[in-house]
Amino acid sequence: MLEYLESLRLVDHHCHGVLGEDLGRTAFEAMLTEAETAGPPGVSMFDTQVGFALRRWCPPVLGLDAHAEPEEYLARRAELGAAEVNRRFLAAAGLDALCVDTGHTPRAILEPPGLGRLAGARAHEIVRLESVAERVAADGVEAAGSPARCGPGSTPRTPWGPSRSPPTGPGWSCRARGRRTRRSAGAAGRLMRAAESGDDPPRVCDEILHRFLVWCAVDAGLPVQFHVGYGDADADLRRGDPLLLIELLRAMDPVPAMLLHNYPFHRNAGYLAQVLPNVHVDAGLATHNLGHRSPALIAELLELAPFGKVLYSSDAFGLAELYHLGALLFRRGLAGFLAGGAEDGAWTARDAERVAGLVASGNARRVYGLE
Ligand SMILES: [Zn+2]
Repeated sequence: MLEYLESLRLVDHHCHGVLGEDLGRTAFEAMLTEAETAGPPGVSMFDTQVGFALRRWCPPVLGLDAHAEPEEYLARRAELGAAEVNRRFLAAAGLDALCVDTGHTPRAILEPPGLGRLAGARAHEIVRLESVAERVAADGVEAAGSPARCGPGSTPRTPWGPSRSPPTGPGWSCRARGRRTRRSAGAAGRLMRAAESGDDPPRVCDEILHRFLVWCAVDAGLPVQFHVGYGDADADLRRGDPLLLIELLRAMDPVPAMLLHNYPFHRNAGYLAQVLPNVHVDAGLATHNLGHRSPALIAELLELAPFGKVLYSSDAFGLAELYHLGALLFRRGLAGFLAGGAEDGAWTARDAERVAGLVASGNARRVYGLE
């Protein structure tokens, strides 16, 4: 089964760019955690599930033995240089297509076409809704435009406004939850005032505006990605359970809702994928962070979620290693799950291969309309 999965090229339906510069140990370790910085003195981020997974699987791609020590690994990485390291790991991921979320990339990072060339895959852009609103606010100040341009009732009711051409990507991403309200015009006004006051660039951080943007995207009819559960350290995980989104997800139907990451609420996400026709799920970010435990995560995601609604994503960011680790651990976890079922007689080997094809790329192709 693993061999079969290794023969399949994946669609990574949610990922970010990689850093184009060489990294010292502290900077490298900081990219191995969702915390703002690497661990305190005496605590290494290599002593984690993702750290051990990296030392197990990544050194051979750079010509070292598996389990190379961190210092040896980082020395080899520096010797090859970031460009070569990025090329090797993106190629090793075995991707057919990638959907790159270009929002929230404060440091210089490769744009989708560059990533696609490195990966030997087609790259599509996922447009971050908040980024569009921030651009509109900044442009609006310049053009002395009105906040109503992205308020309810403007025509067309889209966040990019009548003078912009719509983004051409296959989908949107957003960090929002809730419903469109009349207060959204007021929230847009606040964003415009922030832009005017020289808050450069203005940042969308307003629940009402997030909700409004989701509905703009729903009106446009493209799949909307929601960052759910485990992720940035500044997100409130107590409010990260996707069950809190159920009314919005129901109201969005038939527009596809793509629940990203989901850990540790991945079973709840699987439930939503079962009961709501438009909901799809993945276990991005958590797959590589759980390392040796990721097969359990993948099996739990597949408890309730229909197999036709589970997608692959790495949610890789910064380190090219994470593209490779995400893909490798996902293939191994899914292969173990499907092979185990076939051995138990729960399904046939042929069924297992068909399901592998759906999860690896077929579901993403269908939902995003990728060719
Ligand atoms: Zn992401």
